[in-house]
Amino acid sequence: MRIVLLGAPGSGKGTQAQRLIDRFGIPQISTGDLLRAAVAAGTELGKRAKAIMDAGNLVDDATMLGIIRERLAQPDAARGFILDGFPRTVAQADGLAALLAELGTPLNAVVLMDVDRDQLFRRLTGRRTCRKCQRVFNVYTAPPSVPPPCGGQCDAPDLFQRLDDSEATIGKRLDVYQAQTAPLVDYYRARGLLRAVDAEGDIDAVTARLVAAL
Ligand SMILES: [Zn+2]
Repeated sequence: MRIVLLGAPGSGKGTQAQRLIDRFGIPQISTGDLLRAAVAAGTELGKRAKAIMDAGNLVDDATMLGIIRERLAQPDAARGFILDGFPRTVAQADGLAALLAELGTPLNAVVLMDVDRDQLFRRLTGRRTCRKCQRVFNVYTAPPSVPPPCGGQCDAPDLFQRLDDSEATIGKRLDVYQAQTAPLVDYYRARGLLRAVDAEGDIDAVTARLVAAL
């Protein structure tokens, strides 16, 4: 099962990815983690990526695809993968398609986690983090159980809202996501690969819809 997972911040992508990993026994390949790992391992491509990032630039597509190629060659990816955070542009989608065609392992599906923007906004602005143990709660969807503030997990005096989760920042993050993702949605729909999954509501129900879509 070879999947690209598309989902806005707050869409529950991380949770559902974990469930697909458990269900299909395939790894999640998150390009952010991949990049950090390649840099830490000091591979040829990792060194190149580090030099680019140290100069304050974005890692180019060829380098990123090289790092993805190396990752896909590892044994745990033989049965498939969930690609997360890549592609972000149509050019990257073309590059990925060419790489996978060369490897003889084309994508099976591109899953779009579909959540209404108002719902995303609510989920994201509701996030609160414990100052002491860093546990994350949501005042709307996952409030701390008694006793507050940290649900008895630690004795922190309060929870706080990360700057990343402020309303202005969230509005911008959602706009960026939307602008970036719309062309990819069109791209994969035109190729018959897109599976839009209603990702609102109960987590188990979303998983069931996801699995059915695959
Ligand atoms: Zn805590």
